[in-house]
Amino acid sequence: MKKISQHRGMGARIGIGFIIVLTLMVALSAIGLRYVADANQRLKNIAQNNNVKIELATEMHSALRERALSMHVLPILSDPFDKDDEVQRFNAQGAIYIKARNQLESMPLSLQESNILAQIQTLTREAQPEVQAVVEMATFNDNEQEIFDRIRSIAMPRQRDIAAQVSALLELQRKQTEEAVQSAEISYLSVRNLMSGLGATALLVGMSIAGFVIRRVSHQARQLADQAMFDPLTGLANRCLLHDQLEHEIEISKREHQSFGVVLMDLDRFKEVNDTLGHDVGDELLREVGRRLKETVRAEDTVARLGGDEYVMLIHNLDPQDAPFIANKVLSALDKPFHWQNQSIDLGASLGLSFYPAQCDDASSLLRCADIAMYVAKRAGKGYALYSPDQERASRGDLSLKSELREAIQTDQLCLHYQPQIDHRSQRVVGLEALVRWNHPQRGFLAPDAFIPLAEDAGLIGPLTHWVLKTALAQQVVLQQQGYLLNMAVNLSARNFHDMELPASVHRLLAESGIDPKYLTLEITESAVMSNPIDGLAILAELDQMGVTLAIDDFGTGYSSLAYLKRLPVDELKIDKSFVTDMEENENDAVIVRSTIDLAHNLGLKVTAEGVETRGAWDTLSLLGCDQSQGYFMGRPMSVKKLEAWLHESAQPEFSTRVFHAV
Ligand code: C2E
Ligand code: MG
Ligand code: MG
Repeated sequence: MKKISQHRGMGARIGIGFIIVLTLMVALSAIGLRYVADANQRLKNIAQNNNVKIELATEMHSALRERALSMHVLPILSDPFDKDDEVQRFNAQGAIYIKARNQLESMPLSLQESNILAQIQTLTREAQPEVQAVVEMATFNDNEQEIFDRIRSIAMPRQRDIAAQVSALLELQRKQTEEAVQSAEISYLSVRNLMSGLGATALLVGMSIAGFVIRRVSHQARQLADQAMFDPLTGLANRCLLHDQLEHEIEISKREHQSFGVVLMDLDRFKEVNDTLGHDVGDELLREVGRRLKETVRAEDTVARLGGDEYVMLIHNLDPQDAPFIANKVLSALDKPFHWQNQSIDLGASLGLSFYPAQCDDASSLLRCADIAMYVAKRAGKGYALYSPDQERASRGDLSLKSELREAIQTDQLCLHYQPQIDHRSQRVVGLEALVRWNHPQRGFLAPDAFIPLAEDAGLIGPLTHWVLKTALAQQVVLQQQGYLLNMAVNLSARNFHDMELPASVHRLLAESGIDPKYLTLEITESAVMSNPIDGLAILAELDQMGVTLAIDDFGTGYSSLAYLKRLPVDELKIDKSFVTDMEENENDAVIVRSTIDLAHNLGLKVTAEGVETRGAWDTLSLLGCDQSQGYFMGRPMSVKKLEAWLHESAQPEFSTRVFHAV
């Protein structure tokens, strides 16, 4: 949305800029044109007036010439009629001359023109009586020689003076016309310069705007292309580019008869880290994972991030038998711990691999198969898995299990097994952990790991937890009636922390059973609370207020943050069995167990160890001050019937091989 409005904003700004430039151009062109029109008008006026003036002056000039001719002709004419005709022509030319001069005088005149005309008038006035006298003499006197003399000496010089002035007038007008043309030319030239200047400026401005727009647009186009093809967080290829690359790779591999591999990877503990340490740390980790993956593969291989903590690697020219090599290479790249503020973070990953053309022959199925394999690897906790069609059958099996599970909860196909928890100091059974099993009509007994994740996926964890709580509390009542006052531990799932009704329903079940809340322990994992921290903490607070005991289960496996642990209203820590079972052989595990016990005690928490399989482990834990333990050494999880027998046997004094006793 933001991008679109930015584009609109820029479009509007460019549009406004363009309109301003266009308006300027139009205004400047109008000014230029106006200037040209003015110059034109001026030239037109000058040309029109000067043409008339030149015409009139020319008329005056030729009238003078005609009159001079008449003066020369008159003395040589002998016929009186001819003479009379010539005098009339002489006078007519005089009238033409006067008329032309008068017209000229009535026109708008420059100072110089007025001066010349005044000169002509004076000269004409002075010459008139003498010229007239000469003409009359030529008309009536026969003395030809005398007449010529007078013409030559008196009349002609006068006439020449006048003609000279008329010529000056003509010359002046010619000059004026020339000047007008010149000034028009200058005007045209300056307008032309102005217009070409403006044109060049407009072109420059237009080109700069266009350049700017092109740069901006191509920059944005590049950004959009990047957004469309690359993951903004890590800079790796995104799903879209990966798809293109896969299709391209299929083409090449088809042509060159090669095989290639697709590795889909999902981080194991990313969500916990992200929830506990915050999104900024999470983002940095995702970037670091991206960097490590890029360093692990060759330059021509593609690394993409599909979103969340899912990555895909497209490995060129790779055969299925190379799967372990590439998978181990990727896993060991992520094995090195990640560091954040002196804390080392261990993420872990699960990989699924699929191959072209051995298993799949199109991009979508390569990704789908790698995803199925990854899911299998994650479930099995074994790092990586290569796709095989029976995994698909298994995942289809999961689908049918999901639909059967709903029915199983309603029709009591589920049952609980109970594992005793023994107090180290008194060596007595103090509690039981209720562990669910599914007695499937076709598949037989199913362990919780096989169906709890499905119940989470299918949204069935609420009804399942409700059933377990109800059944476990009912069993506790029965045991109490038999004289065994035992604590009951029930496991909760991550999904339970999305259900704000959970405390109310625990409260109702406790009330219905009449069990004192302090004899109920609810086991949670840190990551389960962190899957929904705000609601999770509120739910825990309500349960705590109710007086229920809260225990952190599988402590040490997830991302354990001490600061965070202090904020949880828990009463007990359960050390994960993986540390306890290996404690005797593995010094590191022994250290972890010892420090967890100390840590818990320092925080005022009770410690339970899980997975005690040997007497040695039991003794070590007793020495370390562990409060209570559960494990195969003392008792496996067992059915109600077996449990009752076991409790009964444990209570017998002759049952001395046991280190513990029923209450
Ligand atoms: P958990 O809560 O950590 O339970 C302990 C698991 O360790 C049980 O596996 C138990 O059989 C096993 N175990 C006990 N002692 C030993 C030992 O000495 N050695 C070894 N190797 N294992 C030992 P189980 O019953 O398969 O349960 C697995 C997980 O399923 C449980 O881990 C718990 O997280 C979950 N689960 C079980 N019942 C329920 C339930 O009712 N609701 C929920 N949400 N989860 C459940
Ligand atoms: Mg448990
Ligand atoms: Mg556990």
